[in-house]
Amino acid sequence: MTYDDSNVFAKILRGELPCHKVYEDDETFAFLDIMPRADGHTLVIPKTSAMNIFDVDTETLCTTIKTVQRLAPVIRNAMKADGLLIQQFNEEAAGQTVFHVHFHIIPRWAEVALKPHAGDMGDSETLAANSEKIIAALEAA
Ligand code: 5GP
Repeated sequence: MTYDDSNVFAKILRGELPCHKVYEDDETFAFLDIMPRADGHTLVIPKTSAMNIFDVDTETLCTTIKTVQRLAPVIRNAMKADGLLIQQFNEEAAGQTVFHVHFHIIPRWAEVALKPHAGDMGDSETLAANSEKIIAALEAA
């Protein structure tokens, strides 16, 4: 399989699909997952085309994880989370559903169960409110 630039994240990067963006720099882009496993569930993607761990170049991977690390404390503070789950799926058998490499940042609270992966759509008002919280925390950081 080769990279297919009709995947939804490529469309989001090109501005062809809307998203709740929380962060962008020259190399990476971060936005809320539309089917959040928890409030504030954020996806971090490189702007470079790569499917997953098997074809991404090391520099792109490092740049992307740097953005994950930069956003992690911001998201934890914004969402008042007890911790964060960082997930990254490779190939369908491992649960990957969108073939543009990405990291999930999922806030966790001690008493709140994790929702299923790619389960129910989040409601747009809650997604908007959570993205505003994260953007405000980024601006304050
Ligand atoms: P994967 O299963 O590939 O690790 O994760 C893909 C993620 O993308 C899933 O958690 C799914 O909810 C999310 N997703 C799928 N389509 C869209 C979309 O159109 N917009 C956004 N923001 N997230 C999406």
